[in-house]
Amino acid sequence: MACNIAICINNTFKTTELKEIKDEGIDPREDMPLVGIDITHRRGYVEGYSRWKGMLPQERIGHNPLSVDYGNLCKGKCIFCMGKRNTLRPPAIKEILNHLNLHGYKHDSIILEAPSFPLGTSEATNLLNEIILSPFASVPKKLTMRADYAGSLNYLRLAKKAGVEIISYGIESFVEEILQVLNKGTTVQQNITALDNTIAADIRPGINLILFTPWDTITTTDVTIQKALDYVEKGAYLNISVGMDINPAIKIDEKVLEYNDIYEPGMLSSLRMLSQGKILDPLLRKLLPSIHKSFSELEKGYQSEFASARSISSLIWCKAFYMVLIKESGMNDELFSKIERINRIINTCIMEMEESMLFLVAIGKVPRFT
Ligand code: SF4
Repeated sequence: MACNIAICINNTFKTTELKEIKDEGIDPREDMPLVGIDITHRRGYVEGYSRWKGMLPQERIGHNPLSVDYGNLCKGKCIFCMGKRNTLRPPAIKEILNHLNLHGYKHDSIILEAPSFPLGTSEATNLLNEIILSPFASVPKKLTMRADYAGSLNYLRLAKKAGVEIISYGIESFVEEILQVLNKGTTVQQNITALDNTIAADIRPGINLILFTPWDTITTTDVTIQKALDYVEKGAYLNISVGMDINPAIKIDEKVLEYNDIYEPGMLSSLRMLSQGKILDPLLRKLLPSIHKSFSELEKGYQSEFASARSISSLIWCKAFYMVLIKESGMNDELFSKIERINRIINTCIMEMEESMLFLVAIGKVPRFT
């Protein structure tokens, strides 16, 4: 795989041009002190991860992050990937540092935007070492990475030294067969090692999961949720996508293809659109509409700003899954304790968000969740 990428780089890749990208989606609240509680991950920037073991309500770093486009190289060939990849190389390290010097002072955090930051490669190591020597070492940073780049605790410690506070991973599943059929190119063990190493390096991991891929069953869904919750309890945050998008450009098992006919008044005829992948397991397929319904009902039970926070809605999806299993098979101790566990985690997240709200109100700010 690495060879394919090297060939592409030599022939067709462009280099990313750096522009200042301000995040428009959130009130920058630039005057909020860096030592204050963060509205989304509820801790002062100066506190280390080890001093706070709570859950992260949302994948977010800072109030006013500077996005640095670090190209779109990725060695993966996941069948669900919709992103544009392998057309832009990262800018030269010198350019990135110039960019930080020029714009960094206006921002309280930095996001190195790349589908997969190549931790452990010489390019990434050189960049992190330069950042450590720069005035931006202590500015909190976020990376997105494939789990197979996180096999070395030493490189993660280097990232921590360079100010990396959050790493978001495309974990997708904790079931080997599902990872294989998704062509993720990672194993369950690599997922586990990545999350363990990240926590050991005092960096907060984000777990991106796909719940209900076409090949999932009740058992695989349960395995994936339970393993993910183990890490949420250790401080990871959860970001669940429900159902798997189908990339029409990728050859895929015909059995999972499903189409929707879309018609709006004024159209000459309806349009056939590829929908999300069809679940093959008959039982999970049968239960899926009830799981969606249960999610909508459960969601109404939470205050809307909490329920719409991605990490909490991800947990509500997990709860909806078990609620439907209870309806289907009757209450039993095991299902009851799984739901209780999710309830405890949701309540902790909500308490943390409430504390953040109170903090912001106390300093005269308007709380807003992303
Ligand atoms: S690792 Fe991420 S960016 Fe790379 S192919 Fe897979 S989904 Fe796409």
